[in-house]
Amino acid sequence: MVSLETPSKDFIRQIIDEDNRTGKYDGRVHTRFPPEPNGFLHIGHAKSICLNFGIAEEYGGKCNLRFDDTNPLKEEDVYVKSMIEDIKWLGFAWEDRLYFGSDYFDQMYDYAVQLTKDGKAYVDEMSAEEIREYRGSVTRPGKESRYRDRPVEESLDLFERMRAGEFADGQMVLRAKIDMSHPNMNMRDPVIYRILHASHHNTGDKWCVYPMYDWAHGLEDSIERITHSICTLEFEDHRPLYDWFLEQLGVYRPIQIEFARLNLTYTVMSKRKLLELVEDGHVNGWDDPRLPTISGMRRRGYSPSAIRTFCSRIGVAKVHSIVDFEFLEHCLRDNLNKTSPRFMGVLNPLRVVLENYPEDKVEEFEAINNPEDESAGTRNVPFSRVLYIERDDFMEDPPKKFYRLAPGREVRFRYAYLVTCKEAVKENGEVVELRCTIDPETRGGNAPDGRKVKSTLHWVSEPHALDAKVHLYDRLFTVPDPLGQKEADFKDLINPDSLKVLTSCKVEPAVRNLKALDRFQFERLGYFCVDPDTTEEDLVLNRTVELRDPWAKIRKQQRKE
Ligand code: ATP
Ligand code: MG
Repeated sequence: MVSLETPSKDFIRQIIDEDNRTGKYDGRVHTRFPPEPNGFLHIGHAKSICLNFGIAEEYGGKCNLRFDDTNPLKEEDVYVKSMIEDIKWLGFAWEDRLYFGSDYFDQMYDYAVQLTKDGKAYVDEMSAEEIREYRGSVTRPGKESRYRDRPVEESLDLFERMRAGEFADGQMVLRAKIDMSHPNMNMRDPVIYRILHASHHNTGDKWCVYPMYDWAHGLEDSIERITHSICTLEFEDHRPLYDWFLEQLGVYRPIQIEFARLNLTYTVMSKRKLLELVEDGHVNGWDDPRLPTISGMRRRGYSPSAIRTFCSRIGVAKVHSIVDFEFLEHCLRDNLNKTSPRFMGVLNPLRVVLENYPEDKVEEFEAINNPEDESAGTRNVPFSRVLYIERDDFMEDPPKKFYRLAPGREVRFRYAYLVTCKEAVKENGEVVELRCTIDPETRGGNAPDGRKVKSTLHWVSEPHALDAKVHLYDRLFTVPDPLGQKEADFKDLINPDSLKVLTSCKVEPAVRNLKALDRFQFERLGYFCVDPDTTEEDLVLNRTVELRDPWAKIRKQQRKE
């Protein structure tokens, strides 16, 4: 009988199991995560990181971190540094196996010479435009270049001089000699080297010829003796080429396995698109908490374990799909609920004066730090005659289902007393203060006569309160698929309310002890974290996510209509 407890393995792990059974790689499992350092990592990369490092861990194998840095025009050291920080933060380690594709430039060059000597590559002097034209199309075979059959010695000489810097960018390229009428366009004599007089972040000015991705990637995998080269589906059509290069060179061959990339609703993920948002100032840098970058999510208050759980729960498949953003937030809430200490804070303060509470009296009430985790203990929260509550928690003329504070109504102030509202003080028609009384018999929040109240409010004592600035975030885009809108540029679909800044929030004094990036819950308001911009004078907090999905109600309503 099949046990329901054991989830069936995904197709990649099944392939690895089979390879281990047949002894294909002598039972070795060696993967790699190969980002191009041309931007910051995002949640899509997290899926690939969890997969590659996760598989290595599960099979007692190894996973390399390798920067695939073959394009000097787009790559920078800041990106290398941020990627290293992000992967570490996600909880993965590569010991001493940090590699750069550019470290293999000499070897890659030698392999290209070998291929040319073998008559399987040639220097082509046609223009880029001609090369494109000659390539044909999916329905039309390509045409062979007039340079295709030039003598091997001539190609070798030209390639050497390309490297020596004798020619200008684009003047010629080195191409593999495969088949110009191959049904797979990638096999139509792909370019493997181009001239680029550009400084490289790692090799400086040593090179002015740079390998193309398809040439470089397989060689990097081969040199590092990777067993399973896991990549995303868009490389499926490149696999024959990946195999062809390694086979022609007669070198060690990993297998390439493709899976569907992660797509999420209400956001964009490609580094190029994210760069546009950053460069055009639509967001405040790569770590803007609205972005799906790992650094943005960290600053927003995501925990590494929430991201890892999400990546494992979405699974790995061969078919394209789009994951609902809500599912990511579901995994997040689930994790934060178990791990976050609770505090009280008021976002939109309304002053409350307790008329029957002595002017200079201060009491401390014991509050539970985390109801999900007894070991988190308790703390004392100061209480006094003047408090703040949430403006939304009071209505002068409440509708039927509003159970919070209203004139004449009694509610519980969490951990403290039952409080009754006597009067709302107004200025220019706006409520500016509530005059209330406590029932001194209800210390701790319960009435000895057993009478019930319909709601419990959070509060902060005015003389003890800390001022805070709070960032509230919403989805970055107004539509689920911002890139799929034919009539609009994705940047025009940015949600104008994706960031709200509240500057007069009041929070309980214990928040002072938190450090940058610490995560916590404000009771009833959601999960938050301390923004790294916080200073001694300015407490800056980011709301990670609300306690419940505010969109769930809207969706339900929409479905009804
Ligand atoms: P982007 O277009 O976002 O820059 P990329 O594929 O060009 O993505 P790389 O730096 O080349 O970015 O990616 C490193 C690894 O991460 C690759 O193996 C790639 O397949 C994988 N990866 C990138 N985006 C996703 C995604 N959305 N889901 C899963 N894996 C991804
Ligand atoms: Mg890329």
